[in-house]
Amino acid sequence: MLTSYSMKKADRNYLKFLEKKDQIINEVKDILSNLASDLLSKFSTEKYIAMFTRHNDGDKLEGLRSMSTSPLLNRLCIERSSIPGLVCHHCYSVNYNNLRKSLREKLERNTAILTTEIIDYDLIPTIIDRYFRIESFGDLQNVIQAINYLNFILKNPETMFAWWTKNPQYIKQALQQMNIEKPQNVQIVFSSPCINKPADIAILKKVFPFIDKTFTVYDKQTTETINCGKLHCINCLNCYKPGGVTEVKELLK
Ligand code: SF4
Repeated sequence: MLTSYSMKKADRNYLKFLEKKDQIINEVKDILSNLASDLLSKFSTEKYIAMFTRHNDGDKLEGLRSMSTSPLLNRLCIERSSIPGLVCHHCYSVNYNNLRKSLREKLERNTAILTTEIIDYDLIPTIIDRYFRIESFGDLQNVIQAINYLNFILKNPETMFAWWTKNPQYIKQALQQMNIEKPQNVQIVFSSPCINKPADIAILKKVFPFIDKTFTVYDKQTTETINCGKLHCINCLNCYKPGGVTEVKELLK
């Protein structure tokens, strides 16, 4: 049932987007194959610099950089966004109208680069960031993407990474294929799919022992103690460092 909140302009746009979902999925498949064939032959180290997003003033991630792919080119993101009760149903980034064109193109380009081919290790950039986020808009969609992120993390051992995902199965497959343990310089943050329902980290760890923390969104009626959002990430860093709070709780925006 629609609430008054859901009739805000952003939500009306979102409903329109859902109506066009199947058409969009077909269109993005075409975009993806064109982008991939166009870009893969032009790889150079410089090209990867465009892959990073610098987060601006006012953003929770202000002062940090991240690397992300497009939720609009991710079948799992699109499917989940149509299910009420899932946090993806409220996702700002999966609404085509909410992403500015330059950012949308950058994320699409990242999807093409990161999900289609394992990048040669020599072409993976080194960075000087102390902390860095993996996926601030989209999510994993295959094992190739997970291998590319793991190689990026391995190539930058001085940087502490926080990697958000709802799809840890691809990290598991990547670690198995690479025959490695999770690198020490990354915290894997499992993003709970349902609003108000934290994933059970003990159960998760039985299948995905590399998960470090869970991140759950609560609605405004919750009586839970919210422990995320008061500070910008750069002044908190709980998700970027080992230990600390393992069950992160944020209020629905
Ligand atoms: S707990 Fe801290 S580091 Fe994690 S998302 Fe919230 S503000 Fe950012």
